[in-house]
Amino acid sequence: MKQIILTGDRPTGRLHVGHYVGSLKERVRLQNSGKYDEIYIMIADAQALTDNAEHPEKVRDNIIQVALDYLSCGLDPEKSTIFIQSMVPELTELSFYYMNLVTVSRLQRNPTVKSEIQMRNFEASIPVGFFCYPISQAADITAFKATTVPVGEDQMPMIEQCREIVHKFNSVYGETLVEPQILLPQNQACLRLPGIDGKAKMSKSLGNCIYLSDEPEDIRKKIMSMFTDPNHLRVEDPGKVEGNPVFIYLDAFSRPEHFAEFLPDYNNLDELKDHYRRGGLGDVKVKKFLNNVIQSELAPIRERRKEWEQRLPDVYDILEEGSKRAKETAAKTLADVRHSMKIDYF
Ligand code: ATP
Ligand code: MG
Repeated sequence: MKQIILTGDRPTGRLHVGHYVGSLKERVRLQNSGKYDEIYIMIADAQALTDNAEHPEKVRDNIIQVALDYLSCGLDPEKSTIFIQSMVPELTELSFYYMNLVTVSRLQRNPTVKSEIQMRNFEASIPVGFFCYPISQAADITAFKATTVPVGEDQMPMIEQCREIVHKFNSVYGETLVEPQILLPQNQACLRLPGIDGKAKMSKSLGNCIYLSDEPEDIRKKIMSMFTDPNHLRVEDPGKVEGNPVFIYLDAFSRPEHFAEFLPDYNNLDELKDHYRRGGLGDVKVKKFLNNVIQSELAPIRERRKEWEQRLPDVYDILEEGSKRAKETAAKTLADVRHSMKIDYF
């Protein structure tokens, strides 16, 4: 069976380091592994509109920002099809048919939908489109017959719901759709990177992000202001590493060679953590190291971004070309779906 990837992001803001470790870095690795026959990367503008209906210009402007972030992280349009969701209207038609296979109570039980409704204060007035977005996400995944969906942990209930839709469709109308597998980052710290304020998730909507496109001085300020262990007041105090955002970031970003380069007194992260636990290691020293680590990771990305920013017409060409290709694939699946449903009349 062909190995196919579908994944993407909502154009609600520039991408941040949570996206990078949770999904983007993994996509680039998979893209370059040569193990996948087709890779589709979707900029989910229609999904972003489900909770930004009154701000279409915000969604529109961020399409190019997300595309620039993709290209600067190493997604290669020769290997990955980058496209805009709303330019593939076949996805909307698929969603419409899948809606008949899902109950309202099943959608209400989806834990990610639940927590996102809370986060947006939608309790009393949920837009129907927002409520149904897990169904449209199932359409996105199945339209490309994706076998693999590399995303962060918050997407687990979405993939589960998609698998149920596939199962139901195939059992009612005959074997047509492919059941996808979620692919989570292997590094625990990358599953859900906390914000610089220590909140459970770095998120565009919470304003607690280090953006891939931030300037070095902004990154330094954000890191130096980060939350650590609130009981680690003096350098000599013993400190807690678990749940300490600075150490979670080091778990996510640092590699042994960073120690040789920036902190040669220690051989690895375990030694640094032991010292922090014992006491005698100040937050400032750890934060300075984290700053060096993140700066070295983000500098090449920022440079490539600046180059792509000079070539915006090329970026739009990439999106147009990708959207055309994506539309062709989705149209084939839609034809299969209509055939299976016996609604292919002429
Ligand atoms: P929004 O607030 O608009 O929902 P977001 O920051 O949650 O934005 P999405 O576009 O919803 O970003 O998510 C894109 C991808 O990035 C998903 O695969 C998601 O799992 C992953 N992701 C988002 N935030 C994090 C994070 N803090 N840590 C790890 N992965 C993340
Ligand atoms: Mg989100």
